[in-house]
Amino acid sequence: MTDPNVSHSNNKHSASLAAASAQKIAIIGGGLSGLFTATLLEQAFATAPKNLQITIFEKSRSVGRLATRYRTDKSTDKNWQWSFGAQFFTAKSESFKQFIAPDLHSGLLQPWLAKVVNLTSASESGQSPQIEPKEQWDSIHARYISTPKMTSWGRKLADDLQFTTIKFKTRVAPLAQYSHLQTDKRTELFDEKGESLGLFDWVICTAPNGQAAELMADSGFTQQGKILKPEMLACYTLMLGWQDDVKLPDSLKSQANEPVSNWDVAFIQGSILDRVFIEHHKPNHEQLLPSLTIHANNQWSQQQVDQDITKITEQLLAEAKQLLNWREQTAPTQIDCHRWRYASTLTPLDIEGNEQPLGILVDKDKQWLVSGDWCAQGNIESCYQVAEQTVGVILEAVSTN
Ligand SMILES: Cc1cc2nc3c(=O)[nH]c(=O)nc-3n(C[C@H](O)[C@H](O)[C@H](O)COP(=O)(O)OP(=O)(O)OC[C@H]3O[C@@H](n4cnc5c(N)ncnc54)[C@H](O)[C@@H]3O)c2cc1C
Repeated sequence: MTDPNVSHSNNKHSASLAAASAQKIAIIGGGLSGLFTATLLEQAFATAPKNLQITIFEKSRSVGRLATRYRTDKSTDKNWQWSFGAQFFTAKSESFKQFIAPDLHSGLLQPWLAKVVNLTSASESGQSPQIEPKEQWDSIHARYISTPKMTSWGRKLADDLQFTTIKFKTRVAPLAQYSHLQTDKRTELFDEKGESLGLFDWVICTAPNGQAAELMADSGFTQQGKILKPEMLACYTLMLGWQDDVKLPDSLKSQANEPVSNWDVAFIQGSILDRVFIEHHKPNHEQLLPSLTIHANNQWSQQQVDQDITKITEQLLAEAKQLLNWREQTAPTQIDCHRWRYASTLTPLDIEGNEQPLGILVDKDKQWLVSGDWCAQGNIESCYQVAEQTVGVILEAVSTN
């Protein structure tokens, strides 16, 4: 993948990158911010690959908040599948459009031309919800999904990396905890057992801001006070599955004589539920058993963030039953719920009330950078923006040293 902005800076910096000493870079977090940063760094060092050595440390077993859960029906061998984190993403900037172009071309990424409605619960139980058309997503202001799963894109980005090692199930300890060595600007990182993870010229932290604040606390990071400026809100996600189309409640059945019933995404009005996504209506998902992902309202989720998940599931399920108006025979057979502590970012506002994204936080002396979607607007395109900013800072520093 070639990004014109980075290629441009590439040309500007390529002679100095070749002459520079080798750069060992640690990226904390293997979500999209981490993967985009590694990809853009590899592109930037394309003419001097020997001078780049990246290690991504990821505490979980897979890539970040792009998440897919599936279950198999043993009798039919068919799957239910839920993208229970990000559902889709936009690509508004020219550079991000260029970045995703090859994956769109290969069909890994596809636009979802979803029919979107507003859904309001019927005032009396036992009645169908009110459905009103809202919008039709088109290919000009496209919303993209990754196929066959939302995780497929993250895996592909990880597989394409050539000068990057990814260490899963490795939790980096707070930088202050093991009195980190800082000689010649190099930083020694440790895991939570106190084992050394190596010495690095650059440390890039891409964890959600609550976790970033803990990682950088008392380390002397000069930008520490800004990390918690954006507020991140939680989200509970309900995943539902039905045995087959016939068992779906009427509110989810497409009816030829009622075109408005044929919807893919619903914005919920006046409820603790926020949005419903019909997974088996997505492109390249038609083979799935009926699967529905429902995100709860972020403010409500934040207020209940430490509640017992079984109780939350019951509450969300009761609300979804009332909304979608299912009965015993049309009730879902698969039910699951996930708690995201860090789901959505409230971008700080300036004095005139306009959104004022924080931007990445840089400590030039220590060569530490703190980034993540929350440094911009808190979505997938933000991950790309912060990756571009991060690479810009490193290229500038390496080429002027
Ligand atoms: C429910 C939900 C719905 C969403 N819907 C959309 C949407 O429709 N469209 C959209 O564009 N975006 C959406 N988003 C946002 C999108 O998912 C995020 O913007 C994006 O995935 C953030 O990526 P990231 O790499 O910045 O952070 P993350 O994916 O959180 O990656 C950070 C990683 O750091 C790791 N980590 C943290 N601490 C350590 C440590 N000490 N050591 C090692 N690893 C560590 C974490 O395990 C994590 O994997 C949604 C998010 C959620 C949760």
